[in-house]
Amino acid sequence: MEQFKLNATRIQFADDTDVVINPTELTSEKERFELLASSTLDGLLLCDSERKVLFINNSAKRILGFPVDKSFVGESLENLNVQCFTDSLNAAQENNIHEVNKVADLSENHTKLIGFHLEFARNSRNEQIGWLFVLRDVTQNWQNEQMRSALTVASHEIKTPLNSMLSAVDLLLDLDLGGLNPKQNHCLRVVKDDIQRLNRLLVDLLDLSRFEEGIQFLERRRQTSLVFLVNKVLDSFRTFAKSKNIQLENKIPKSIPTFKGDRDRLQQVLSNLVENGIKYSMPGGSLSVDAELQDTIIKCRVNDTGVGIPSSDLQVIFEKFKQLDNFPSSSSRGYGLGLSIAKQIIEANGGKIWVESELHVGSTFFFTIPV
Ligand code: ADP
Repeated sequence: MEQFKLNATRIQFADDTDVVINPTELTSEKERFELLASSTLDGLLLCDSERKVLFINNSAKRILGFPVDKSFVGESLENLNVQCFTDSLNAAQENNIHEVNKVADLSENHTKLIGFHLEFARNSRNEQIGWLFVLRDVTQNWQNEQMRSALTVASHEIKTPLNSMLSAVDLLLDLDLGGLNPKQNHCLRVVKDDIQRLNRLLVDLLDLSRFEEGIQFLERRRQTSLVFLVNKVLDSFRTFAKSKNIQLENKIPKSIPTFKGDRDRLQQVLSNLVENGIKYSMPGGSLSVDAELQDTIIKCRVNDTGVGIPSSDLQVIFEKFKQLDNFPSSSSRGYGLGLSIAKQIIEANGGKIWVESELHVGSTFFFTIPV
């Protein structure tokens, strides 16, 4: 194989996979190797002990901003002008280190960050025949991480004063030593409501940023009973429903089996759907939660007799910050994040979520849970 100029060489990759390059099986090994090397999204760059490039795949060229149609084979590593590679290789050789993991900024303004792993490439006799770089573009991950940590700091900074404001308002309302007239009492309730909304917004924004970063959030899967979960959620909204004269009903059949799921996150989904069902209903309506088992899937329904959703908006309401003008003024408005979070949770759990609705009649939100 012209590119390698090696005899029966086993190349070991960072993830413990290896490829044997054997001149007697040139065609098939070459094909296999090229297939493997070109189909990986990770960049691969192999150089010999003289630092001459033996192989570089297209992913590596793209990540490093090189033209894909240029070969680079035979060029010295120094000529590629990737300072972090030569620096790491120098350091590895000087300190007799066999393996280096690094994140480097190719742009110097954080618009092109790569993570790379550098290690000895050995032959089948365990002799070092060169160096292998495995690289990945980590710019997006880094930017997400920066955003998330900024958001975490900001939310903490905002939450602390919000909580003390909430305690102060609660104290004034609870104590109400008779000094508050109805107008003042009303104003304080409005303030309390807004503080709670801001608190919810902070929690939602943090959740969203975690989901977008792909952080595994369905971690604590426990045996879960839907009847129990729905009872718990409905109970937490009884006061709110009563204030709007809305009947709540748990219609989940006892035959629905328990399943392994993240209770907290499913409770979050149910809470959002139930709260919306109450919020988007006029006084005197009703809301029920029902479910049926279809093969290995539980299909859950949250049905309300509310204002309904126009058919053109049935999909878009699951998008971030999407709010319709179907809001009954008697409730406190959110920020249009609840349904997009619910969608992320359900999909991460292997299910689907959707809605059917008729204007001025009501809406039914469906979601599925695999059992
Ligand atoms: P919000 O905080 O605005 O309720 P959501 O993401 O939970 O955010 O919902 C997005 C939008 O979908 C709402 O603003 C509302 O217009 C519509 N919506 C959600 N649930 C219902 C429902 N049960 N009935 C009518 N409209 C609804």
